[in-house]
Amino acid sequence: MARYSESVCRLCRAEKVKLFLKGSKCLREKCPIERRPYPPGEHGRMRRRILGYGIQLREKQKLKRYYSMSERQFLLFFQRAERKKGITGENLLTMLERRLDNVVFLVGFSHSRSHARQLVTHGHFRLNGRKANIPSLLVSKGDVISFREKSAEHEELKAIFELNKNKAVPGWLEMDREKMEAKVLSFPTREDVTTPVEEHLVVELYSK
Ligand code: SF4
Repeated sequence: MARYSESVCRLCRAEKVKLFLKGSKCLREKCPIERRPYPPGEHGRMRRRILGYGIQLREKQKLKRYYSMSERQFLLFFQRAERKKGITGENLLTMLERRLDNVVFLVGFSHSRSHARQLVTHGHFRLNGRKANIPSLLVSKGDVISFREKSAEHEELKAIFELNKNKAVPGWLEMDREKMEAKVLSFPTREDVTTPVEEHLVVELYSK
């Protein structure tokens, strides 16, 4: 899988929206999109009219990048969402939201979603007391996510956790800061998903 090696801030600028890929920098004035709110590159400031397919493509890229996923992973998720009952766009968003790496990020165990994915892959978490190292695993109601015993003593992870102690957690999750564990209270609904995306455009793109 080809890896993106340039600054991830360019991705935000390309989509003209904050994708929160850089942890605390995203909340500071240093965020490049605050200072240069136009696409990167020589012709970034030029006005470009995007129509039809282009709009759908940008929306898909935005969503994929927001969750730090590869094209293939994203397509697999879309196909799973399509097979489920209900509205495909909503299914897709709520499934993305339930990913283990996303939950790790939302409750403040990591700097960003890509960092969360790395931590999960390296086996720092337990799901209901059992080792969980698959970032795409979907959490369910009642699930408990916690650090592995050794990881809870890890200085760097403790520092990140402390830095995020005031982070607001979505209503479908509950964080016990004392125990350093998160609980899934319910399945997320479309209203719980704050991702700035028009998901029907993504569905239209893949339905062509
Ligand atoms: Fe995007 Fe964060 Fe970089 Fe700002 S600091 S451009 S939100 S990745």
